Parts: sequence; structure tokens; C-alpha cells
Amino acid sequence: MGTILAHNIVRAFRETLHGAVVLPGDEGYDTGRRVWNGMIDRRPAMIAYCGDAGDVIRAVDFARTHGLLTAVRSGGHNVAGNSVCDNGIVIDLSRMKRIDVNAASRSARAGAGLTWGEFDRETQKSGLATTGGIVSRTGIAGLTLGGGIGWLMRKFGVTCDNLLSIKIVTAEGRLLAASSDENPDLFWGIRGGGGNFGIVTEFGYRLHRVGPVLAGTVYYPAARTREVLRFYRDYIAGIPDELTTMFVYMSASRTPALFRLPGDGPVAAVHVCYTGDAQRGEKLLKPLREFGPPIEDGVRVMPYVELQSMLDPGAPPYVRNYWKSSYLKYLSDEAIDVLVACSEAMTSPLSQVHLQHLGGAVQSVGEDDAAFSHRDALCALNIVTKWEDPRDPEKHIQWTRDFEAAMRPFSTGGVYVNFLGEEGEDRVRAAYGPEKYVRLAALKKKYDPTNFFLMNQNIKPAAAGIL
Ligand SMILES: Cc1cc2nc3c(=O)[nH]c(=O)nc-3n(C[C@H](O)[C@H](O)[C@H](O)COP(=O)(O)OP(=O)(O)OC[C@H]3O[C@@H](n4cnc5c(N)ncnc54)[C@H](O)[C@@H]3O)c2cc1C
Repeated sequence: MGTILAHNIVRAFRETLHGAVVLPGDEGYDTGRRVWNGMIDRRPAMIAYCGDAGDVIRAVDFARTHGLLTAVRSGGHNVAGNSVCDNGIVIDLSRMKRIDVNAASRSARAGAGLTWGEFDRETQKSGLATTGGIVSRTGIAGLTLGGGIGWLMRKFGVTCDNLLSIKIVTAEGRLLAASSDENPDLFWGIRGGGGNFGIVTEFGYRLHRVGPVLAGTVYYPAARTREVLRFYRDYIAGIPDELTTMFVYMSASRTPALFRLPGDGPVAAVHVCYTGDAQRGEKLLKPLREFGPPIEDGVRVMPYVELQSMLDPGAPPYVRNYWKSSYLKYLSDEAIDVLVACSEAMTSPLSQVHLQHLGGAVQSVGEDDAAFSHRDALCALNIVTKWEDPRDPEKHIQWTRDFEAAMRPFSTGGVYVNFLGEEGEDRVRAAYGPEKYVRLAALKKKYDPTNFFLMNQNIKPAAAGIL
């Protein structure tokens, strides 16, 4: 343990918090230091569970005063594992779950500790929702701050496009508000710039009337993946914004809907979410549901919250994960051939290959209107590698790297910041492009000149002379 804090200092800090402080050796320390990605095994000197914004200010002041490396955690789902650190302090907001839904103004104020499952359950009581992630246990905080791609994005934009305001604690321990009227530069930066500028304690979202939705998954035999992908490419070229889809290559043995089918090899699948009139949706989805023919069709009208947890079984916590991602410009026959060949060489039955189709309302916001970038991409490719056996991680990691390298010729060169692992500064720059990175670095210099918040996809303050 590199950081030793005197007992009386820790006791005094503990007494100021409405939440709790957990130290090495305390009950709950080992579960408290775990994050979703089982590859991450770090031992912080202290976990400060904050109960409110005041606690977050006190935790930031404490960390700054004692020179502690600081990690910020909300949902703990970040694949890079940046929400936990060795020897420093984890400022944990997972207990800050207050949510106020205003059905009349179609808006919600939400505590940073909520997961999408918790958020959706509350907003859906009023028949409302906003774009969230596709796995219900993901935190609203990290996802929103990186952008937020999900089932409703083609209709309502990415999550951060639906942000109305935030409250944020800066590195100096000041609580600021930001919106399009108040600190608009900061509001621009946090919509895609991640946790670089401070700790967001509360998010204000615009909500929309949503649900029930026509949604689910159509499965096809893996042997026909190439044809499915060619069909899928042509199909998505003509769909309306009410329909968001995602292609997945994955193992049948991990897919509850396929348990009754013989064999446990891979399958190709398309997940869909249609938010318009169900009859129109049925017509629209007919070609997809008849193509092949499919081996299973799980598409039906369902509550939005059911769709939001539909993919949870494929994303279990504490499994080892290594991801590589990039945005694709187009899906040429050549790109499809490479994608199929790489998918077929998959090394673990837990792994998945995702293609999330963007477009629609994602592109109706200007590229310069928020830090979130690469709105013109056709889709996000995410090679989601998972395995359980701790032996021989290299074969899984190498497969992921080779796959990403093989797909590079078809990439825009950009990447979605929330799908990045520990991939270095060049990839963080690639998440924003050179001009936006310069603007973000200037903003970082203004709001966090000492780079106090560095456990993230880090944007260096302009003053550091790194530009
Ligand atoms: C299973 C799974 C499914 C996913 N699905 C989607 C998806 O559908 N769409 C999508 O866009 N992304 C998705 N992601 C990626 C996801 O957006 C990121 O992992 C995101 O960081 C998760 O947020 P979190 O609060 O759970 O993470 P955490 O690990 O708690 O935080 C991640 C980082 O965000 C920052 N941060 C967290 N809380 C705060 C805060 N309150 N204030 C300031 N900074 C903070 C910190 O830098 C922290 O390191 C998924 C990830 C996983 C593992």
C-alpha cells in the first residue's frame, strides 16, 4: 500500500461525510474495489461513498489536500477500468440515486449513481424515456458524459443530445451548474468529453414519449453471416429514424432465446427497436424477419424496460473483457468479407462482435455542437472479447487486436470514447479529431489545469504543452 493516511485524518474525513468511507481491511473493501471488467484488480487506499453533492465536494477537497490519485465511479461499467485506482481514492457516486421526473415538462433530474435500468423504470412510469445504453446495469453518468449510443438514438439523438443541464464539482471543489445558458463552454465539453472536467452530481434530461416498442432479435445461422451482412447493409440504407438496429455475431450457447435449439455454435443476429406505430413497424421489419429464413424470431411488442434488459445476460459482471472499437464509414463487400473471416476465428464463446448502426437523429446535431464526435459514421464496430479462464489471456487479446487491425482500412479513423480501453493518447485524440481535441485541451486548462481528474480517457490541459 503506497498511501498511508494517519488514522485521525481519515476519521475526521469520515465524520464529515453523509455517505461512508471504506478502507483496506474493512468489510466491503474487496467487493467495493471491484468493477464490471474482471481484468481490473486495483487496490485503492480509500473508497469514499458519497451521499450528496456536499460529500463529493468534501471528497475532492480531501483528495486534493492530501495529493491522492483520484478515480471517479458511478456505474463502474467502464471497460478501461478507470473508475478504480491503485493507492488513491475512489470517489463513488453509486448511492446518489435520487430522480425527479416531471411528466408535464417531459424532463428528469437524475442523480449520477443511477443505472439505466433504474432510470428507465422511473421515467417509464410516466410513459417517458430518453436514449440510454443497451445494458440496464450501465451507469447513466459515464455513458452520458461520453455521448451515449442506444436504442432510441436514431429517433432522439445520442444521450448527451438530450442533456438539458448538469451540476458538476470542479477540481477546486466548486459546485457549478452548466447548460446552454450557464457555463456553455463547459456544457459543450461534458457532452462527449467524459470525466475530464469535474464530477457531475446531477443530470437534467429531456424525455420523450416512448413505448411499448416493437423490438427483439432475429437470429440466422452463422454459416450465412456474409449474406446476412450484405442484406443488412442494404436494409439499413432505407430505414426510418424510428428504427434502430444492431448486428451481432455471438455464440448460441450464451443466448437464452436459442437454448432449445440443437448445437451451441455461433449465430448471426440483428437486434431491433422500433418506436413508431406497431403496424407500420411490422411491415418495415418483414424483410428482415423473412430473410434467410431465420432460425429464431424473437421480435414482438414489449415494454421499453424489457428491451432495456434484454441483452443483460450477454454482459455479465466480473468476466474478463478486452475490447477494440472503431467507427466504420461504409460496409463494402470487402469489409464484410474481412469481418466474417475475423468473426469466424473468435477465440471465446463469450465474445461478441457488434455493429451499431448510427445515422438518423445522431446526424441532426452539428458536429461542432458538442464534444461527442464522428456523427457521420455509418456504424460503430465493437469487438467485445470476453473470457472466464484466467489462463492464456493473450490468445483472446491477440484475436481482438488482429481483428481491429484488419478492419482499419474500412474505419473512419475515429472511435467512440466510451468503448476505448487503455489505448493511449493517440486513440483519445482519434475519439475527437485534431480540432476538437485542441478545443477540449483548452477547456481542460480552464476547468482542470493541474489534470486532477486524470483517471479517464485523458485530455491533457493545453498548458502542459502537449498539443
Ligand atoms: C456491458 C456494457 C454495455 C455498454 N453499453 C453501452 C451502450 O449501449 N451505449 C454506450 O454509449 N455505451 C455503452 N457502454 C460503455 C459505457 O458508456 C461506458 O463504459 C461508461 O463509462 C459507463 O459508465 P459508468 O458510469 O457505468 O462507468 P464508470 O466506470 O463508473 O465510469 C466511467 C468513467 O466515467 C467517468 N465518470 C463516471 N462517473 C462520473 C461522474 N459522475 N462525473 C464525472 N465523471 C464520471 C470517470 O472518468 C470514469 O472513469 C457499455 C459498457 C458496458 C460494460
